[in-house]
Amino acid sequence: MDPWKELKEECAGCRGCVLGETRTNLVFGVGNEQAEVMFIGEGPGEQEDLQGEPFVGPAGQLLDTMLELIGLDRSKVYIANMVKCRPPRNRDPQESEMAACSGWLRRQIQLVNPVIIVCLGRIAAAGMIREDFRITREHGHWFEKDGRMLTAIYHPSALLRDPSKRPEAFMDLRNLRDMIRVRCEHTY
Ligand code: SF4
Repeated sequence: MDPWKELKEECAGCRGCVLGETRTNLVFGVGNEQAEVMFIGEGPGEQEDLQGEPFVGPAGQLLDTMLELIGLDRSKVYIANMVKCRPPRNRDPQESEMAACSGWLRRQIQLVNPVIIVCLGRIAAAGMIREDFRITREHGHWFEKDGRMLTAIYHPSALLRDPSKRPEAFMDLRNLRDMIRVRCEHTY
């Protein structure tokens, strides 16, 4: 069986944590399954839960704009979240929920096999880069892990709440574009 099909079918019925009891739709991931660049957020919000696709609400529209700024779109990257089901009232996903969901994300990363992973916000960075990651101090820095380059940028929701962070986010995006040009063969 096609490994993606197998993974999606297995994941679709997941009740590995309490978030599975309150979701409308499981939000698996979207984009190019052979992408060299993978974006990882924290979890679905209301619109994502309703539509079953990551980053489709206002934060998703901003993410699309951010991608456009550096010549990317959803056909060139893969987008997933730390947890696949919406935390009630948009609370942060709990550690136990992220741990329960980590196997799905790990298998997605194995299948996509990205050169670069971009964490969107502190929670994804804490899960993917380092537990005590400080997004205000360390956004835009690069870390090498398991042969991949990892970075974190501000989550689009944070940029909607606090537009004063946008110039820093723009710099991080330019650095990301430069890293893609150096490390990736097919993205541009
Ligand atoms: S959040 Fe992840 S582990 Fe929890 S039910 Fe959904 S898919 Fe399963």
